[in-house]
Amino acid sequence: MATLIHNCTALLMDGANTVLPNAFVAVEGGKITWVGDRRPVGFFDEMIDGEGGLLLPGLVNCHTHTAMTAMRGYGDGHDLQDWLHNYIFPVEARWDDRAIRACTALGLAEMIASGTTCIADMYMHMDAVAQEIAAAGINANLCCGGVLFDPVFDPKTHHDCVEQEEMTRRWHGYNGGQILFDASIHAEYTSRPELWKWTADFARANGLGMHVHVSETRKEHEACIAKYGKTPLQTLDQYGVWDVRAIAAHCVWTTPEDWALMAEKGISPVHNPVSNLKLGSGIAPVPAMRKAGVNVALGTDGVSSNNNLDMVEELKFAAVLHNGAGHDPLALLSGDALAMATANGARALGRKSGRIAADYDADLILLDSRRLNLIPCHDPVSNVAYAAHGSDVRMNMARGKVIYKDGDFLTIDIARVKREVAEYAVPLLFGA
Ligand SMILES: [Zn+2]
Repeated sequence: MATLIHNCTALLMDGANTVLPNAFVAVEGGKITWVGDRRPVGFFDEMIDGEGGLLLPGLVNCHTHTAMTAMRGYGDGHDLQDWLHNYIFPVEARWDDRAIRACTALGLAEMIASGTTCIADMYMHMDAVAQEIAAAGINANLCCGGVLFDPVFDPKTHHDCVEQEEMTRRWHGYNGGQILFDASIHAEYTSRPELWKWTADFARANGLGMHVHVSETRKEHEACIAKYGKTPLQTLDQYGVWDVRAIAAHCVWTTPEDWALMAEKGISPVHNPVSNLKLGSGIAPVPAMRKAGVNVALGTDGVSSNNNLDMVEELKFAAVLHNGAGHDPLALLSGDALAMATANGARALGRKSGRIAADYDADLILLDSRRLNLIPCHDPVSNVAYAAHGSDVRMNMARGKVIYKDGDFLTIDIARVKREVAEYAVPLLFGA
């Protein structure tokens, strides 16, 4: 099916902040086939009138735990250890596939309605998560976040290794790449070298990406140096963890040596400003990492530490936070922040997406520029980075298919999802 989007202003995210007024964007077979200021020749089955709105590449949420929508606002106001051990872990022990599916669908709906077309999700019960992703139509790099606490390690029986192998076989490359299954280590402090080596070898042998939490808190960062004599990033590097395409969530306490390693190996750190601020973890050195030539991406982290999945809000936090922290209004420009949420994110996840250009995946969103907070529009990039809300999104197209339009979800039965969360998942997890 051929689709033509017209009557809109397109932000191409081509590295030069090119804005194309009166844009025509054609889509066929899940790909963008034409971008220009005149109508391409040919017949189109579907015409989408942008009604003067802003067309952007879909937002890429490079680090989240989608099903944690269930824990929105649960156990807030405690320190990290108390919160994890007395609130989050006991609830997580009660998950079943049905509850995971309901809470994942709720999170996906929230992300789709606020302009996200691609996510990197690390969680458990990943077969259930993958089924919801497949149905919702969004793109995802999934992983199971391997941990190792047992004193003995046998990859043939270790739960996370077995799950890694099974999920890779079942889901990696699903539907032409809609789902990629990455290799993953939850973090340095929740595992040991045997698991790092096995996971690195598995990723290399199967052509997978890698997803790890790195240097989120000072405590974790300093404990790793005390234990292994190196930072978490450098410790994991000794086991080949970064020899494949990789994303490192948080990187708040990373050092100049870490940034050089990121640049050399092509590791993409994922900035999660809201989660880091809420949990008091600190402020990631984003301008310094960018200056070191590192591809910095953006993510929301899970709802339990955010407490929403709105990438437009995350984008604004990223765009203003570093100016304030660095006493420099030019520390991070609006276009740089928007690139983190689009082109950089797509690159971090190994996808030809995040730009409006021919041959790129047709992951596109349309913002309604008639909203009060977007009037007038001197600079579309500035309006998106500083003035927009996720609720300004009126259309979400993933892989060439419209999955959300004017408040309607076209792939998710939202009434059923809300019912499942309220009547099944919440009672299961928290007691009726
Ligand atoms: Zn996380």
